[in-house]
Amino acid sequence: MKLILLGPPGAGKGTQAKRLEDRYGILQLSTGDMLRAEVAAGSPVGQEAKAVMQAGQLVSDDILVRMLASRLEKPDVAHGFILDGFPRTVPQAVALDKMLAERGVKLDAVIELKVDDSALVDRIAGRFTCAKCGNGYHDSFKPTAKPGVCDVCGATEFTRRADDNRETVAARLVAYHAQTAPIIPHYAATGILRTVDGMADINEVSRQIDAALAG
Ligand code: ADP
Ligand code: ADP
Ligand code: ZN
Repeated sequence: MKLILLGPPGAGKGTQAKRLEDRYGILQLSTGDMLRAEVAAGSPVGQEAKAVMQAGQLVSDDILVRMLASRLEKPDVAHGFILDGFPRTVPQAVALDKMLAERGVKLDAVIELKVDDSALVDRIAGRFTCAKCGNGYHDSFKPTAKPGVCDVCGATEFTRRADDNRETVAARLVAYHAQTAPIIPHYAATGILRTVDGMADINEVSRQIDAALAG
């Protein structure tokens, strides 16, 4: 299964990607996670990306396309992947088409999570992640079962992203509507676009995705 999860920041892409990983035994490829790893490592790409990410803008297509192309070379994605956060511009979508065609790979579906802008700010402002295993949570919508303890691994340290603040979110939403939303017609034209109501609760969204993939 080869999928793209598409949607604005905070739509639930990471949350649903983790579930799809377990359900279909395929890997989540999050370009946001890859970039944050580069920033943490202080690599040349990380140094270039850091300020752009803090400002809520998009890192250059050139960097992203190279990053994804080299990731797709690794054997662990041979039987499937979920792209989370890529493509984010029309040039990235065009580059991906070319990359996949060269490898003889066909996408099974592009799943669009549709969420109102008004809901996204609260989702992002309440987001936090286990520092040890990376499991995602939300202050109101998906708290840990036991306060301060990760449900998955029992760790007690959590992190919040530097760009998950109300000011940066506004810039990220502008970037989404201006640069990312235009790729939706690109995939609608190929007949593989499936639109899901991302406003529903987490389990209901998962059910809708499964139904979209089955049908
Ligand atoms: P994205 O990867 O699209 O930026 P996330 O999966 O990180 O989004 O979700 C953003 C925040 O919203 C997280 O804190 C997550 O727990 C929460 N969340 C995800 N899906 C839903 C949903 N359907 N309803 C309410 N909160 C959600
Ligand atoms: P979210 O799903 O909450 O928007 P991500 O973790 O996917 O956040 O991305 C965080 C930041 O990393 C983006 O705001 C952007 O600066 C950068 N980024 C991630 N993926 C891409 C991409 N495909 N093209 C350009 N910039 C990207
Ligand atoms: Zn954990």
